[in-house]
Amino acid sequence: MRASLVEAASLLLPVACPGCGELGEPLCRACGSALAPAPAARTLRSGLVVHSALRFEGVPAGVLRELKRGRTDLARALAPAMRAALSAAVRDAERAVFVPVPTTRRSMRSRGYRVPELLARRAGAPTVRLLRPAFAVSDQRALGRDERIRNAEGSMRAIRAGQGVAPVVVVDDVVTTGATCDEAARALRAAGYEVLGAAVAAATPRRADPRAESTTE
Ligand SMILES: [Zn+2]
Repeated sequence: MRASLVEAASLLLPVACPGCGELGEPLCRACGSALAPAPAARTLRSGLVVHSALRFEGVPAGVLRELKRGRTDLARALAPAMRAALSAAVRDAERAVFVPVPTTRRSMRSRGYRVPELLARRAGAPTVRLLRPAFAVSDQRALGRDERIRNAEGSMRAIRAGQGVAPVVVVDDVVTTGATCDEAARALRAAGYEVLGAAVAAATPRRADPRAESTTE
């Protein structure tokens, strides 16, 4: 509903490039080329490896923010990056199930779509919703790193047991501290899943502003 209202509004307002603000361009060529995948991996303290393909700054950060504000068309421009991160996380596993971090009810109400699922779908990797929030976490954006980890702990639960199924890859849009990906992996392992790693479109450069993180907003 909300997404369609934004689309309707865009017919009246001039569209602008989310990277540089150029009017009349849904995404200009120069900013589009700043979304070329540059694969990277970060190992969290828990041992979980998070694969990303963009740095969450400049043009990629602008594009991801606009994607969350209703520009769902931008998921297509991010597909090569998302695909690179997903395939790096799968490595040489014969098959894998892509599991998005759960979208909170509040985000779903205000936005009307699930960002990790949209990114994965546009990258040709449909996801399976195996996680749900176990309780409402408080807003992560104002929290520091350690507070975020405590805040996220125990906040997700797998909806069914994972014995005998394919290994899984956790999918999110942006990683900052890794608290959300870690919690998703913990909940999946607790239910018996083998977790290969996590895949995100973009990772914040280290020691950057943790308020950029999106996931449990
Ligand atoms: Zn531009």
